[in-house]
Amino acid sequence: MNPLLTIQLPIPFDEVKAGHVEPAMHALLAQAQAAIDSICAAEGERTWANTMQAMDDATQSLDYAMGVVRHLEAVATYPELRAAHNAVEPKVSEFYSRIPLNAELWSALRAFAATDAAKALTGTRLRALTKTLDYFRRHGAELDAAGKQRLAEIDVELAQLTTRFSEHVLDSTNAYEEIFTDPNQLAGLPPSAIDAARASAKAKSKEGWRFTLQAPSYLALMTYLDDAAVRERFYRAYQTRAASGGYDNHHIVPKVLALRQEKARVLSFADFADMALVDRMARSGARAMQFLEDLLRRTEAHFAAENEQLLAFRRKLEGQSAPPLQPWDAGYYAEKERKALYDFDEEELRPYFPLEQVIGGMFQTVTLLYGVTVQEVIAIPSWHADVKYYEIREEGRLLGSFYADWYPRESKRGGAWMDAFLTGEPAVAAWHHIGVICGNLTPPLEDKPAMLTHREVETIFHEFGHLLHHCLSQVEVRGLSGTNVAWDFVELPSQIMENWCWQRESLDLIARHWQTRETIPDALFEKMRRARNYRSANGQMRQLSLGIVDLMLHRQYTPARDGDPVAYSRRILEQFSPAPLPPEHAMVLAFTHLFGSPVGYGAGYYSYKWAEVLDADAFSLFQENGVFDRETGLRFRRYVLERGDSEEPELLYREFRGRDPQLSALLARQGLLERLG
Ligand SMILES: [Zn+2]
Repeated sequence: MNPLLTIQLPIPFDEVKAGHVEPAMHALLAQAQAAIDSICAAEGERTWANTMQAMDDATQSLDYAMGVVRHLEAVATYPELRAAHNAVEPKVSEFYSRIPLNAELWSALRAFAATDAAKALTGTRLRALTKTLDYFRRHGAELDAAGKQRLAEIDVELAQLTTRFSEHVLDSTNAYEEIFTDPNQLAGLPPSAIDAARASAKAKSKEGWRFTLQAPSYLALMTYLDDAAVRERFYRAYQTRAASGGYDNHHIVPKVLALRQEKARVLSFADFADMALVDRMARSGARAMQFLEDLLRRTEAHFAAENEQLLAFRRKLEGQSAPPLQPWDAGYYAEKERKALYDFDEEELRPYFPLEQVIGGMFQTVTLLYGVTVQEVIAIPSWHADVKYYEIREEGRLLGSFYADWYPRESKRGGAWMDAFLTGEPAVAAWHHIGVICGNLTPPLEDKPAMLTHREVETIFHEFGHLLHHCLSQVEVRGLSGTNVAWDFVELPSQIMENWCWQRESLDLIARHWQTRETIPDALFEKMRRARNYRSANGQMRQLSLGIVDLMLHRQYTPARDGDPVAYSRRILEQFSPAPLPPEHAMVLAFTHLFGSPVGYGAGYYSYKWAEVLDADAFSLFQENGVFDRETGLRFRRYVLERGDSEEPELLYREFRGRDPQLSALLARQGLLERLG
C-alpha cells in the first residue's frame, strides 16, 4: 500500500520512500483531473457543493501528498528522493497552472455565480467565490485562445529565465575565493570567523584560511578585517556577481522586466506592480511607493546624522585627515563604534537561552496570551529522531498539532520556515490542523544543551507565530484558512511574536542560565536593549532603497528612456547609500528576491517594511494594556489568528486595533522618533 495515496493520521512520515513518490503523484494527478472533469460535466443546477466545494475537494489529496513529499525533500533528502521530487514537481505545477485556463470549469463557475444561491452568499463563502473568480480572470480565464497561448509562453519563458538568473548568482558567488596563508592577513577577525575559514580551506584540501562571497564569510570580512584593501576587493567582487563571463545576468534582467510588463498588459493591468499587488493590502504600486516614501522622509535626517557620527568616530580614531567612508568601510567602523558605545557582545546571552527553556517559556507566553496549552506527545512517527510533536488544546479540545525540527543536518535545507500539512474544516468531525516548524539552530554539544543566540530565539518565536496562524484558524473554506493571506499581511502573526523576546516579563519566562537557573541580569538586559537600535536608520534606509528600486523597475523603468537597468538601479540606490557606489556596482544582477523566480518578491520587496509597521503598531496595543494582557491577546486571536483570509486584512486589522496602522510605533521601536540633537 502506497502511504501517500490516502490521508492518514498520524502522517506516516517513517513509511514514505522515494519509490512511492512517482506512482502516488501520477495516480493523484489523474484523480484530481477526473474530479475536475466531473465538476465540468455535472448536470442540473449549479450549487456551492457541486462547484466551489467540489473544486476544493478535487485537489485535497494531491495538495496533501505533494506537501509531504516537498517537506521530506526539504528535511530528509537523499538522491533518489530528490530525483523523484524533481520529476513530479513540474507536472504538479503545470496541473495547477492549467486550472484557471480550463474553459469548461470557468463556465461552471460563472454559471454558479449567476444563481440566486450565489447571489445570496455572504461572509466567507461570498469572499471565496469573489476571490476565485478574480483568480481565474487574473490567470487568463477570459482571454481568447491566442491570449491564453501567449500567456502560457510568457510563463514558460519567465520560469526559464529566472531559474537561469538564480543559477548564475549561485555559481558566480561560489566561483570567487581567496586563500590567506599568512596569519597576519587575519588581523581583526574574531576566532569564530578564523576557525570557519580554516575549516573551509580544509574542506577544499587546502592549507591556510579560505574566504568566499558566502554570507557568513563575506560579512565577517566586511565587519572585522583590518585590511581596507582586502575589504575593498571583496566588496567589488560581491557587487559584481553575475555581471560578466559565463554567469552574466545583464541580458536576463531586461527580458524578465519586459515579459512581466507584457503579461500585465495582456491581463489589462497598467504595469506589473499593479498586477502583483491587486490582491495585497497595498492594492497598487502607487500606494506601496507612497508608503516607502513616507517612511523615507521620516528616516532621512536620522540616516544623515548616523553617517556623520560614524565619520566623526573614525576621525577620532585616526585623526582629522582620515578620508570619508567608502562602502567597504561603513560596516567595519560601525562595529568598532558599536563596541565603544555599548560594550555588548551577543555571545554573553547564549548561556541564558538553552533550547528547552526557550520553548517552554514560549508555550507559557501563548498560554497567558491566548488561553491555549501546548503539550508534547511522544512516540509519533517522524523523519528524524530529533523531531518533536506537540498538540495545541483549549480546555481539552484539540485545535491543532505540529512537528518541530530545529537542528541542522546535511540532508536538510538551510534557513527557518513553517509549513502546513493539513487544514482542518468545520464540516469534518475531527477538525484539526497539522503543521511543522523547522530551523537550523545551534545544536547541543556533548554534555551541554543547545544554547541559542538571541536572534535564534526570535526565529523560533517567528516561526511559531506562523504556526499559530495556521493552527488557531477557524475559517470554513480551506483556501482562505490560516496563512493563506495577502503577502504583505502574512508576516504580522510571525513578526509580532518577536516582540516578546525583548520584554523583561516574557524574557523571565524564556531565559534562564543553563547552570544557575538565573534570569538575565539587569545590566546585561539594558546593554542588549540599548544596542538594539544602533544605526537603525541605516538598516531601514537599506530596506527602503531596495523596495524603491524594485518598484521603480516594475513601474517607471522604460528601456528607451532609461537605458541599462543596472546603471538605472545604481543611480537610484546611490541616493540612499551611506557612501558613493563604485561605477561597476551591479547589485541588481544578483537581486534574487526580484529576479530569482517568475513572481517572487518582484514589486513586493516593500512587504518587509509594511509588515514591520503592522507588527510594531499591533504590539503597541499590548504595550498600552500590558504585554500579557489576556483581553488584548484574545482580540488578536479572534481578529487575526482565527480569521485567515476570511475578510479583508485591513478590516481585520482595524477590528483588532480599533483604527488603521500608524508608522509611529515602528519609528519608536527603532529609536527614530526622538528629536535629533
Ligand atoms: Zn515569516
